[in-house]
Amino acid sequence: MNLIKSIRMKAEANALTRVALAGEIAEEEAYESRGCTLDVPDTDDEMTAAEVEARDIQETEHLEEIPVPHQGQSEAERKKIWLTLPRNARAALRKIHHEFGHAPHKLVRSVLKAAKYPQEWIDKVEHMRCIHCEVTAKPKQRSKVAVPKVDSYEFNKTIAVDVIEIHDAEGTPYLLLNIFCLGTDYQVVGYLLQGIGNPKSRLCAETFSTTWTGPFGWPIDVLCDRGLHNRGHFAKLLGAHGIAPSNTALESPEHLGRCERAGGHWKHIAIPTIQTLKIKGESQMKILAAEINSVVNEMRNKGGFSPAQWVLGRMSRRPGDQMDSDAWADIGVISSQIDPQSAFHLKAKV
Ligand SMILES: [Zn+2]
Repeated sequence: MNLIKSIRMKAEANALTRVALAGEIAEEEAYESRGCTLDVPDTDDEMTAAEVEARDIQETEHLEEIPVPHQGQSEAERKKIWLTLPRNARAALRKIHHEFGHAPHKLVRSVLKAAKYPQEWIDKVEHMRCIHCEVTAKPKQRSKVAVPKVDSYEFNKTIAVDVIEIHDAEGTPYLLLNIFCLGTDYQVVGYLLQGIGNPKSRLCAETFSTTWTGPFGWPIDVLCDRGLHNRGHFAKLLGAHGIAPSNTALESPEHLGRCERAGGHWKHIAIPTIQTLKIKGESQMKILAAEINSVVNEMRNKGGFSPAQWVLGRMSRRPGDQMDSDAWADIGVISSQIDPQSAFHLKAKV
């Protein structure tokens, strides 16, 4: 009897302390179990990957149900169809999409078909939008706008134009118009202005006329980038001569690749020349441009001939040059070359 009485009293005391000192008791219990058990529930809010995914799916579907104003028609239409499925069904389809490694809709449809899901579900899979797939998707293929095909060595049929920047020996920047024939690789770089930025379209048009169409006539196709300088007056000038300039997309500057490479090659020769001869100022830069043009047009090899040979039918004369067997010993030319006062001096040195 005493035993039962003492057990009852102990139980009562226990119950009372559990109520009165609930916090302290819990702390003590936790302290007792510290370090000796494997399955203490996490006290922080960390969720397992599966829980995160489930929450993500539910949230996404919840967001889908919220009407968004000013939505595009196709998106509104898609949403409307997608929301005709109950939320649980949508969550299930999304889960399948995730489970199969963000499988494309076509694959999800096959899975559903094989598992004999209702046709209504299968039909609506393509209206499911997955933000993760969209964010990680590769950029869409740019529209393939090909350069008009140059399948011959025809001169002045298709030409490409761009602007290059170069500094003189004192670091002053200059802009030059780089004109390149895609058929023969013949290149003319014309002086535009001293400075940086976009040259005026009118200036480009003038330089183009004087350096290219003046001596060679009008090409059939002109390829240029969409820089501002190539719009307006320049485009009008081409249009007036029956040429619709082909613009390369801003996103794909490589369309102008060959012209740009030729510009780079030109600069590669011009820059050391500028530094070695300390070329500076507008007039010297103009001389430099003309001389580098003649060098690149004789140096390049296009189908076994240099661009100069393709266009002129022969190499140009270089009086006083050691390599010119007809005029290498022209005394007048040689004395001009070594006379620093001569107007011909710099030209010859370049
Ligand atoms: Zn996805």
